[in-house]
Amino acid sequence: MSEISKLTIGSIREGLLSRRFSATEIAQQALAFAESENPKTNAYLRLCPERALAAAAKVDAAIAAGEEIGLLAGVPVAVKDVILTKGVITTCASRILEHYNPPYDATAIERLEAAGGVIIGKTNCDEFAMGSSNENSAFGAVRNPVALDRVPGGSSGGSAAVVAQGTAVVSLGSDTGGSIRQPASFCGVVGVTPTYGRVSRYGLSAFASSLDHIGPFARNVRDAATLLEVMAGRDPMDSTSAAAPVPRYAASMTGDVRGMRVGVPVEYMAHATGETAALIHGAIDTLRQLGCDVVDVSLPSTDYAVAAYYVLCTAEASSNLARYDGVRYTTRSEEAGSLISMYQHSRGEGFGPEVKRRIMLGTYVLSHGYYDAYYLKAQKVRALVARDFTQAFGKLDAIVAPVSPFPAFKIGEKVDDPVAMYLSDIYTITGSLAGIPCMSVPCGLTSQGLPVGLQILCDHFREPEMFRLAHAFESAVTLRTS
Ligand code: GLN
Repeated sequence: MSEISKLTIGSIREGLLSRRFSATEIAQQALAFAESENPKTNAYLRLCPERALAAAAKVDAAIAAGEEIGLLAGVPVAVKDVILTKGVITTCASRILEHYNPPYDATAIERLEAAGGVIIGKTNCDEFAMGSSNENSAFGAVRNPVALDRVPGGSSGGSAAVVAQGTAVVSLGSDTGGSIRQPASFCGVVGVTPTYGRVSRYGLSAFASSLDHIGPFARNVRDAATLLEVMAGRDPMDSTSAAAPVPRYAASMTGDVRGMRVGVPVEYMAHATGETAALIHGAIDTLRQLGCDVVDVSLPSTDYAVAAYYVLCTAEASSNLARYDGVRYTTRSEEAGSLISMYQHSRGEGFGPEVKRRIMLGTYVLSHGYYDAYYLKAQKVRALVARDFTQAFGKLDAIVAPVSPFPAFKIGEKVDDPVAMYLSDIYTITGSLAGIPCMSVPCGLTSQGLPVGLQILCDHFREPEMFRLAHAFESAVTLRTS
């Protein structure tokens, strides 16, 4: 195993400033390690050595000149392939964008490079971020580095896998209904879905715009918080990005969570079974020992959340994906006899089965005569789910819950049953519908050695409290296992 797999943002900074290594050496090591490990997991779709080495050289030049270096100086970052990188092919893991070379960088990318981050490659994912297992990629499934016959979770499976594998120090994912938290849980890393609007979506390929978020993966809470801090903040290119000031998240990680009021949703725990439930109960005990005031809380609309989410996200997807027509961006079918057949063949050949299923479902729920019965009703349910959280946070600082009903499952185990796959998102979708910050922090391993994450959810823009609790919990778990 390479040294790169043990580095953190802090240890890289310290190594660079003490001249123990250069950013170029770190980048070279990360690229070589990623190249040698990737055949095991298929987690990277492509590496971008030229861009990485150019970014690293800039950091080295700044250090040589005695200049200030950014928060992410020299840190190898991997990026989910739904986030646009200028000059580096960005496919959304779809055939339809197989050759798409973006003309601009996403705002999140610009900001992390401005802070000295070194992008080493683009990671595999479910096609257009639609999925919970990373088996919907046009370029092959990703294997979980913890257990290679199992899925890494989805849709940001590649981004979780590279951090777990150690080929990148941190990575970017996107979350619409759980795609950061669930793979983080399955791979045993930290994954954060910030408040909706906290990070600009400019340059994130749209799946369901009212639910899409960019967020970080890392091997510890502090690194995830640092990466979020660098990316967060108002962006004139995204009118839904929030103007709220970005706090110094590190300042909130005091280790002291005594008196924090933490709720455990009774509706979630009623579904939780087996080893996952046991590990979550153990985590709740740990929070009590740390001095948290743990109480039951009811989120009564939970049972309707999955149905509402799959109406809303497919509706938005059917509209967002209309732009891929064989004319702009995309691969055009050879079978383009007429305009209509060019559209039909380009989309028919370019999209995979899950994307087609969602475009059809979304078109249906928006169509005349069904809009009120499905789309409008789902919007009302969304408001109820959000109200559950607003009421709960009137009395609570945080809510804790499982991330997924089960740990990483075998590749192929659920591919033939899309509804079972959708239902597995039960614990993550509620937070997404409400737009609140939520994250997964590792809480232990099953008897088979499979990681399980604890989900922490807080009220809008309460990332500081979320990180405070996650960091104290992480320290307690690390103490116990070391
Ligand atoms: N698993 C959910 C879905 O398939 C969530 C995906 C996501 O968050 N991008 O839609």
